[in-house]
Amino acid sequence: MSQYWSKIVHELTPYVPGEQPKLQNLVKLNTNENPYGPSPKVIAALQAEAADSLRLYPDPDSSRLKAALAEYHGLQANQVFVGNGSDEVLAHVFQALLKHDLPLLFPDISYSFYPVYCGLYGIHFETVALNAQFEVAIGDYLRPNGGIIFPNPNAPTGIPLPLSEIERLLAHNTQSVVVVDEAYVDFGTESAVALIHRYPNLLVTHTYSKSRSLAGLRVGYALGNAALIEALIRVKDSFNSYPIDRFAEAGAIAALQDEAYFQQTRQQVITSRTSLVSALEALGFEVLPSGANFIFTRHPAYVGEQLAAGLRERAVIVRHFKKPARISDFLRITIGNESQNQALMQAIRALVQA
Ligand SMILES: *Cc1c(COP(=O)(O)O)cnc(C)c1O
Repeated sequence: MSQYWSKIVHELTPYVPGEQPKLQNLVKLNTNENPYGPSPKVIAALQAEAADSLRLYPDPDSSRLKAALAEYHGLQANQVFVGNGSDEVLAHVFQALLKHDLPLLFPDISYSFYPVYCGLYGIHFETVALNAQFEVAIGDYLRPNGGIIFPNPNAPTGIPLPLSEIERLLAHNTQSVVVVDEAYVDFGTESAVALIHRYPNLLVTHTYSKSRSLAGLRVGYALGNAALIEALIRVKDSFNSYPIDRFAEAGAIAALQDEAYFQQTRQQVITSRTSLVSALEALGFEVLPSGANFIFTRHPAYVGEQLAAGLRERAVIVRHFKKPARISDFLRITIGNESQNQALMQAIRALVQA
């Protein structure tokens, strides 16, 4: 029945999210979710929100959440944009700020949603190859462009860029918007938020899905100059007036109020990552330096696809990308809790002889 489709639908290549298996008892290390639950204060706030007031629309401007995020990051409320997950925020960013005559630039190995948004919005783009160490090489972005976007730390490599490199880019690239997607920044990468005061073309996006353990609530946000935020609001108000529902706003505010829980859980993930990297290296794995809640690793003697399949047979699921060939032997493994990490290492030891 596809003769009824709008023309563009035939041409779309949709994003394929990591599998959410229906089976219980799998060690799920494939989509970079947080192994620790949300703060108990978030659960209490959500329970309090389950009330008669649900018959009313939420605040279309999410003013309370924006005010809380502005205070948390030392910004003004008009420098904050909130959306239904950072994927929705990014969608609006692509449409509102990155569609120009010159090509948008992003890394060839990066978040695979970027080219999908380009397809949806008809945005001309060029990819820039990571260097031989799989790093984003800022020098390769210093050329005319209609915008630049990359995650920091990058995904799926996990490699962080120092703030000095981001600033070098901003100092040079003043004619287009630079978007730093900081989905994993809380796991040991320097944030570019402090540069917003000095660079009006810098936009930073964050998500509650990883370090705040709230992937199921769908909250993300962007921070930047008020003029950039205004463009996002214009697109949002031409699309969906109420992206943040009552639960999402209450839960997101409560999460910011439990700083101790946030610090404790993110530190635990960082500590577990260090142990996991040592254990893998002892088995001969190469692990790229990670500033994220996942690692990107390969073993010189084993084929990535076979390792991923072997782990799956042992009820451990990790993410494997067949393309490009340069990364086809790597596995992207989310840092789990202690027992998940133990199960992972047990399965890996059964597959790999040290
Ligand atoms: C997870 C992720 C996001 C999207 O997160 P949401 O769940 O939509 O908030 C954005 N960018 C990168 C690089 C991610 O890994």
